[in-house]
Amino acid sequence: MLNQIKGLHHVTSLASSARENNAFFTNVLGLRRVKKTVNFDAPDVYHLYYGDADGTPGTVMTYFPFPHAARGRPGTGEVGTTAFAIPKGSAKVWAERLGTFEVEDLATDTRFGEVRVTFKGPDGDGFALVETGDDDRAPWTGNGVDADMAIRGFHSAEMRLRDAGASAELLRFMGYEEVDSDGDHTRFAVPGGNGADVIDIETLPGVQHAGQGAGSVHHIAFAVENRARQLEVREALLDTGYQVTPVIDRDYFWAIYFRTPGGVLFEVATNEPGFDRDEDSAHLGEALKLPSQHEHLRTTLERHLEPIE
Ligand code: ZN
Repeated sequence: MLNQIKGLHHVTSLASSARENNAFFTNVLGLRRVKKTVNFDAPDVYHLYYGDADGTPGTVMTYFPFPHAARGRPGTGEVGTTAFAIPKGSAKVWAERLGTFEVEDLATDTRFGEVRVTFKGPDGDGFALVETGDDDRAPWTGNGVDADMAIRGFHSAEMRLRDAGASAELLRFMGYEEVDSDGDHTRFAVPGGNGADVIDIETLPGVQHAGQGAGSVHHIAFAVENRARQLEVREALLDTGYQVTPVIDRDYFWAIYFRTPGGVLFEVATNEPGFDRDEDSAHLGEALKLPSQHEHLRTTLERHLEPIE
């Protein structure tokens, strides 16, 4: 069993409008945009990152907004719900706030004994805000979201699978422990994590495979401290029979990717070097940052990409 993985690093999803996506995460959910760059593999599309003040691993929600992309079709083989941690007692004010922004499918319920507010993002993305009692992560505040309600970072990601077996085994291999179950839902948590410690599996045997589109999670990334730890994880996964990509330089972290038995794309990303490697912390996310291999496209991209606040 591995011990290098310390929880989620980031979650990356697809969107249909950069402007709408940016407004939702900054003005409605109150996160900080910590990077405005492009998809390194398709540079005519933005890659937008939202998180806490520094974009600390475990807080970072990222998007590829493909203009006018059709919505995804929810199903199995994907992450259906991305959950953020909020302070105890703040679900009610969040429900009121989200109501004033007229978000889709707003509801409040209790799962695993935790109060949560569930809702859809601008492209039908499945989100939850989960009340947690002992989260000492410092939040980003502003836009009408103050410290007594602000998002602390990720609480969990929930995978919807036809069969949980092989994915549960993979999570255990990655260092997660099964900690609870609630109906069709099984909860895994990694000991000694960064706060974004939980992965839930919802088992839905009869449900068809999801169709990826706007509002779908593209992949979830797990955090390791550095490149040495990442190489250990890569070797172990290869030894277990997983096909893992080579290490890829994403400028703000190093990444490896592999497909899980349930169909979800996993990434393992390093905490180094972080989002302040190419801009001052006070101005994170403001300027369009391009990786060196795409810098020659700057003039074209600045003309082509949808302007955002
Ligand atoms: Zn990623």
